[in-house]
Amino acid sequence: MKASRFFIGTLKEAPADAEIVSHQLMVRAGMIRRVAGGIYDYMPMGLRSIRKVEKIVREEMERAGAIELLMPAVQPAEFWQESGRWAKYGPELLRLKDRHDRDFVIGPTHEEVITDIARREIKSYRQMPINFYQIQTKFRDEIRPRFGVMRGREFIMKDAYSFDKDVDGLKITYQKMYDAYSAVFNRMGLTFRAVAADNGSIGGTGSHEFQVIADTGEDEIVYCPTSDYAANIEAAEAPALIATRGAATQALTKTPTPGKAKCEDVAELLGIPLETTIKSVVMAVDAAEGPTKIVLLLVRGDHSINEVKVTKLAGLGDARMATEHEIIATFGTPPGYLGPIGTKQPVTVIADLTVANMADFVVGANEAGHHITGVNWGRDLPEPDQVADIREVVAGDASPDGKGVLEICRGIEVGQVFQLGTKYSEAMNATYLDESGKPQPMVMGCYGIGVTRVLGAAIEQNYDARGIIWPEAIAPFEVVVCPMGYDRSESVRAEADRIYGELVAAGIDVILDDRGERPGVMFADWELIGVPHRLVIGDRGLKESKVEYQGRRDTEATLLPVGEAVAHVA
Ligand code: ATP
Ligand code: MG
Ligand code: MG
Ligand code: MG
Repeated sequence: MKASRFFIGTLKEAPADAEIVSHQLMVRAGMIRRVAGGIYDYMPMGLRSIRKVEKIVREEMERAGAIELLMPAVQPAEFWQESGRWAKYGPELLRLKDRHDRDFVIGPTHEEVITDIARREIKSYRQMPINFYQIQTKFRDEIRPRFGVMRGREFIMKDAYSFDKDVDGLKITYQKMYDAYSAVFNRMGLTFRAVAADNGSIGGTGSHEFQVIADTGEDEIVYCPTSDYAANIEAAEAPALIATRGAATQALTKTPTPGKAKCEDVAELLGIPLETTIKSVVMAVDAAEGPTKIVLLLVRGDHSINEVKVTKLAGLGDARMATEHEIIATFGTPPGYLGPIGTKQPVTVIADLTVANMADFVVGANEAGHHITGVNWGRDLPEPDQVADIREVVAGDASPDGKGVLEICRGIEVGQVFQLGTKYSEAMNATYLDESGKPQPMVMGCYGIGVTRVLGAAIEQNYDARGIIWPEAIAPFEVVVCPMGYDRSESVRAEADRIYGELVAAGIDVILDDRGERPGVMFADWELIGVPHRLVIGDRGLKESKVEYQGRRDTEATLLPVGEAVAHVA
């Protein structure tokens, strides 16, 4: 590629709405441009990196045996009504009507569409296992789109869906995808951790998130540095507390049937009288995947651990819970919460809520058919000044595997693998005939990678004051050739053209900066854009048959014999 025939849209200033480095740098490097909140143009420079991410993902998906297809972005509401998610998904689902007044959605994910494919195409156990994937534009009407491509509303996802005849088969497929994900993120040069996420509907560790470690990440990860234990905070809290807080917590966490007696357990656990006034209780229902889960959060003081969580929930979009858990009711604070998502029921505010009458809501929830599986209390509700944030509560606890002490760090979720089981196949009647000719529901898994989010995550891990430092595998260009005086010096031009030509022939992704810019401008642009290798060709060096090489992380250039330049970067 020659720079004069490419589009380079570097900017001196970052836009005011860009809060974090990756967002600032992607705009400044001319990779993306904002069109509307959470909606971006992928400019030529950015698209090159996106395509590289996609290529790696495709290669590893194919290696793992997944087969590419492409499903429609616009999906009929009927599918979502069949699966039950039309009512449950909430306002993140962009709904629209066609000219005949029929309901459609713009796909935030494709379980329904793929299950429809499977029920039409897969008839026999002989056709499984099978795993389909696509790389496609998704739309989620995130309440708080921010951080550029990291939390967009329109974004590119790789999503795969597997079909097995039984749970054992699913576990094998799941492991293959888990391994493929590790390969993908390793190839991209990212520092990441696979962490246990909410349990899948078929028990065991049914889901993992792949988290790129970064302080700007929106997720919190609990891990044990001396063992393999790692989980996102939602999944970690219960086991961590079970391990360290004894039988009472365990009973409460595991006993699904509450009743009036339950409030005594709660009071005992928290070491507070039954008449204690609780400022708020939030009940959240896991609406997306897995077993329905109600999370009850209560707040006594202003800054307790539970309020951290309440704030997260109330912030919807602030936290992962916002999308995976549907709030069905809040009582009292926090203010500003608009009401149950999806159902549009008004918020119930109950004055003088106490531990004793709180149990009524638990009972009510159960009568509504919800199964309580994950009631977690922090340890004893701390006084406001005792706990600044949730980190201090879990960090330092014994790891559930008994092999060390827990620590907490932040992460960016770049992928998730999930054992779905028969949730969709049962709801949508996707059955196959087993060996004895009996119809059975297909056993499904789903697997997502945030293709565009990966770019932001990579930058959060790799940048300096001058700009992006792309991991080689996903850089828009691997090498830039910068001639000093391309239009003035015959010898510079000839040597730059020769080196450029040889690099092209060697299959290197190279750009020749033939724009005729001053060296300072040229260097600043390519450092901002983050190209890993730079060759500078000038008359002074050529007199001694030398060119300058500088890696993006190097502090100084080194001189290379002209004849070695290509081999050095190829
Ligand atoms: P988050 O918790 O960040 O909202 P999610 O759990 O809702 O993500 P999944 O349903 O697991 O997301 O989707 C698969 C992948 O798609 C995620 O792991 C993430 O990398 C990516 N992704 C999800 N939402 C967005 C978004 N709004 N913008 C960019 N990428 C996203
Ligand atoms: Mg998530
Ligand atoms: Mg989400
Ligand atoms: Mg996820």
